[in-house]
Amino acid sequence: MTIVVERVNKVYQSGEVDIHALREASLNVPDNKIVTILGPSGSGKSTLLNVIGGIDRFDGGSVRVAGQSLENLKDGQLTEFRRTYAGFIFQQYNLIPTLTVEENVEVGKELSQNPLDMKDTLEKVGMWDKKDKFPYQLSGGEQQRVAIARALIKNPTFLLCDEPTGALDEETGKNILRLLKYVNETYGTTVLIITHNQGIGDMAHKVIRMSSGEIVEEYENENPIEPE
Ligand code: ADP
Ligand code: ADP
Repeated sequence: MTIVVERVNKVYQSGEVDIHALREASLNVPDNKIVTILGPSGSGKSTLLNVIGGIDRFDGGSVRVAGQSLENLKDGQLTEFRRTYAGFIFQQYNLIPTLTVEENVEVGKELSQNPLDMKDTLEKVGMWDKKDKFPYQLSGGEQQRVAIARALIKNPTFLLCDEPTGALDEETGKNILRLLKYVNETYGTTVLIITHNQGIGDMAHKVIRMSSGEIVEEYENENPIEPE
């Protein structure tokens, strides 16, 4: 298993009240699979992703990822873990506006001890011919391709994608999903995708649904469909 989450809790203090962002959340993610996480806004999806990716600490329970128990890692080790194993993709791309495509991807490369080749990576996402462009010169879909290249070049064990198609029109979003599926199949990268879109669930090997910090449904797709 790439990822085993066991009875994880996460509580945010907000003034006098405690917000239970995760309640006894348990989840297994097999190697090399695509998993989508569905659920309404505020149900804990981003928190779960941040916990798995070593961005957020948690309050009880256990998270084993790539052979490491995250609750036992010190801050520096957690940073090292995140850099080595995790790639992050966000709704708003988060590219650095003053850097070119290639320079943005170089940022990811420098974080890795075992990076992939720049040209190969940019070709895989279809952006090699635009390597000298700046983000403002690109469409949203293209910017997301660059963000995927930045995550991918690290050669991560898993990609954590928080609403990766949320800012894109439907057709462009499908292209990004096809690219994530291609990455999964080509590199064997485990891909977790948060989404509001039930349709994205149909392309995943596994679907989980969250509500009020709990994982309320978990099922496997025998035959994941292509995002057409
Ligand atoms: P989702 O991704 O499903 O929208 P989140 O994981 O972002 O849900 O949030 C789960 C709950 O935790 C929500 O009630 C949210 O308001 C709360 N929350 C998330 N991050 C913080 C934070 N940094 N401080 C306080 N509350 C937070
Ligand atoms: P994608 O599916 O890759 O997002 P789009 O259909 O959004 O591509 O865009 C098609 C082409 O139009 C792109 O190759 C891009 O060069 C150009 N384009 C789209 N939006 C913009 C924009 N805001 N600024 C500059 N070029 C754009």
